[in-house]
Amino acid sequence: NSGLMQGRRGVILGVANNRSIAWGIAKACHAAGAELAFTYQGDALKKRVEPLAAEIGGLVLGHCDVTDAATIDAAFAVLKEKWGKIDFLVHAIAYGEQLDGRYVDTTQENFSKSMLISCYSFTAVAQRAEKLMTDGGSLITLSYYGAEKWMPHYNVMGVAKAALEASVRYLAADLGEKNIRVNAISAGPIKTLAASGIGDFRYILKWNEYNAPMRRNVSTEDVGGSALYFLSDLSRGVTGEVHHVDSGYHVLGMKRPDAPDI
Ligand code: NAD
Repeated sequence: NSGLMQGRRGVILGVANNRSIAWGIAKACHAAGAELAFTYQGDALKKRVEPLAAEIGGLVLGHCDVTDAATIDAAFAVLKEKWGKIDFLVHAIAYGEQLDGRYVDTTQENFSKSMLISCYSFTAVAQRAEKLMTDGGSLITLSYYGAEKWMPHYNVMGVAKAALEASVRYLAADLGEKNIRVNAISAGPIKTLAASGIGDFRYILKWNEYNAPMRRNVSTEDVGGSALYFLSDLSRGVTGEVHHVDSGYHVLGMKRPDAPDI
C-alpha cells in the first residue's frame, strides 16, 4: 500500500469481470489504500462483481443500468447514505451496435442508444457525483483512438467516443471551480468482454503490438497505473485532458515498414 489514496473513497462503474479495465483501475486504487464502491448491470454480472468487490473489501451499491435513471439515482442514494461524500469516480461503460457494416448505415435507434450509454451516461453520473464531491474530486472516463481517427469496425462507437471526449472538456470547465477534475484515458486495445463485440479484434491487437513505439499492447494494470495519477493528488493541476495509454500508438502516421505481416 503506497498510501497515495489512503482515506479516499470512490465509485467504480463498469466492472463486468476480472478482465474489465474498471477492475484494473480498482486494483490499482485498492493497492494505494482507497475504499471502493461498485455497481453491476443486471443479475448476470452481479454474480461476477460481488466476489470481486469482496476480494478488496469493496461496497456493492446494487444494480445500475445507465439507460434507467432511477437505477443511477438508487446507486447514488446508497452511496450518500453509507459514505456521505466521495472523492473520485471511474466511468468505464460503453455500448454500440452495428459494428460490422458501414458507419453510414447506422440507424437512428442505434445512434441514440450508443450515445446514451457511451457518452451521456458520463454526464449523468457527473451530475450525481458533483453533489457528493463536497471536498473536490476527480472523475475519469475511458476512450479510444477511434474517437480521433477512423478505425475499422468502430463505427458508431467512434462518434460516441468523440462526443465523450468533448464532454470531458465541458464537464471540466463546469466543475473546475469546485475543484472537481474531469479527464479521460484513451486506452489501447485490450481483450475484454466489450472488445469481443468488435470484429477482427485479434488483428487490431497484433497491428498495435507490431506498430506501437513500445512494440507491445497495454494491460488493464497499465491503465490502472495511469488512472491512479488522475484519481489522486498527483494530477491536482490537471483537468480536461485526454491521456493516451496505448504504448505510444497515437503518434504514428503510418504503418512501420519493418512490422511483421499479420
Ligand atoms: P467490459 O465489457 O469489461 O466493460 C464494459 C462495461 O460497460 C460492462 O461492465 C457493462 O456492464 C457496462 N455497460 C454497458 N452498458 C451498460 C448500461 N446500459 N448500464 C450500465 N453499464 C453498462 O469492457 P472494457 O473494455 O473494460 O470497457 C470499459 C471501457 O473502456 C469502455 O468505455 C470501453 O469503450 C473502453 N475502452 C476499451 C478498450 C478495449 O480495447 N477494451 C479500449 C479503449 C477504451
